[in-house]
Amino acid sequence: MNFGYRRVAAAIFAALALCGCASRQAVPVSSADQATEAPPATSAEISSEIETATAPSETATAPTEETTFVTTDPLDYAFEPLSAKMYSTDTLNVREYPSTEAKIVGQLNPGDEADVVGRTPDGAWYVINFDGSRACVFAEYLSAEQPEEETEQLVIPENYYFADEDDYFFVVNKQIYLPEDYSIETAFVQGSYELEIVAAERCRAMIAAAEKDGIDLKVLSAYRTVEYQRNLFERNVKSRMEDYGMTYDEAVYDVSINIAPPGGSEHNAGLAVDIIDRNHWDTYEEFEDTEEFEWLIGHCTDFGFILRYPKGKEDVTGYIYEPWHYRYVGVKYAKDIMDSGLCLEEYFEQHAQ
Ligand SMILES: [Zn+2]
Repeated sequence: MNFGYRRVAAAIFAALALCGCASRQAVPVSSADQATEAPPATSAEISSEIETATAPSETATAPTEETTFVTTDPLDYAFEPLSAKMYSTDTLNVREYPSTEAKIVGQLNPGDEADVVGRTPDGAWYVINFDGSRACVFAEYLSAEQPEEETEQLVIPENYYFADEDDYFFVVNKQIYLPEDYSIETAFVQGSYELEIVAAERCRAMIAAAEKDGIDLKVLSAYRTVEYQRNLFERNVKSRMEDYGMTYDEAVYDVSINIAPPGGSEHNAGLAVDIIDRNHWDTYEEFEDTEEFEWLIGHCTDFGFILRYPKGKEDVTGYIYEPWHYRYVGVKYAKDIMDSGLCLEEYFEQHAQ
């Protein structure tokens, strides 16, 4: 099995070398072990690899035994078995066996997880499970500590309103308004939309992670000032009175089903974001049938967000089911809240100290 893997790898490498692709690009010169130990690739090295390849037509269609350029079994080396998840701290070459002479079979990027299955007796190399095969990386550049998510240059102001993550765990709704002294810094999330700085950074990371998975998330609404909320609310009350002949109280009641009163919206808190897919320009209940929604439900808690107004909790939240509305509560609570099947009001009642 290992033999087969090497043969295929050799054939692919040979094909790359011959078709003129810069196969060496797959081997960055700045890679950690190369920079410290191995000399950069020379033209002699490249041409010797080309020589080992057969004609392009043959390698492309039917790799033969002769395409193998490993004569002794390099996988026959000693290592102490171990089982650990570790993380690359640098751009790191993955080699076929524990030597800088060994063929590079891949690369780990900073933060990539490595499935460590052993360590060489001298401690210099970790043996990892790499795409189903055994491979080696320089031990110095693997760390047991999971790296922080890319935090960009998030600078929290001194004496900021939110002292730590727990502070994001609170309820804002139509009954519980933001405190008088509520004060936040905001940052852009997408386009002109902003959120509170920590929520913004997490939301940007979430959108970027979705993009990596081929999911295009579109922000439709985010931070709204209390003033904006007041205008929005009053505009809607006015139009219901004028267009539908409602009394003021009727109109206020009707508007409040969909729009929070000023100061009573998570959007005023800068902690809520409405997200839809690229093909729509408004919120809509069928958003739950999209792959964007499926992705969000599967990943939002990784970034500290929850689906805030779930189906079946309308009486508690005071809101219709909103598959598009996500609230930042911090990673510590997000997953537990979603797993509990409770809405934030219910969960908070059970867990707040
Ligand atoms: Zn919303």
